[in-house]
Amino acid sequence: MVIEYSGIVIRSVLTDKWEKFYDGKGIDGKGIGYYMFHMDDFDVVDATTHGNAARFINHSCEPNCFSRVIHVEGQKHIVIFALRRILHGEELTYDYEFPIEDASNKLPCNCGAKRCRRFLN
Ligand SMILES: [Zn+2]
Repeated sequence: MVIEYSGIVIRSVLTDKWEKFYDGKGIDGKGIGYYMFHMDDFDVVDATTHGNAARFINHSCEPNCFSRVIHVEGQKHIVIFALRRILHGEELTYDYEFPIEDASNKLPCNCGAKRCRRFLN
């Protein structure tokens, strides 16, 4: 285990409302869905204003970590785990596993991996 992706759990149907609220406050979402991690079809961990360092971990198509939703005492948590031994000073990355979207909504990937899929979604 590397770190928990912490934040506030919100219902996924409310993410658009929260994004509009953040836009109104001038909080920059960097164009990639703010700092919201979809746990499943129902819940999202919103780290935009209450997150920890996990929200700064970048995507890679050839990552050294992976994310899993785990259940602890009836509560869901997103945890980042190491995929392999990680060297001191090496950047942590995981695959964001965004759903595939059509050409008009593609987000280019700049991970730099040899086997980069060219898009995040
Ligand atoms: Zn990539």
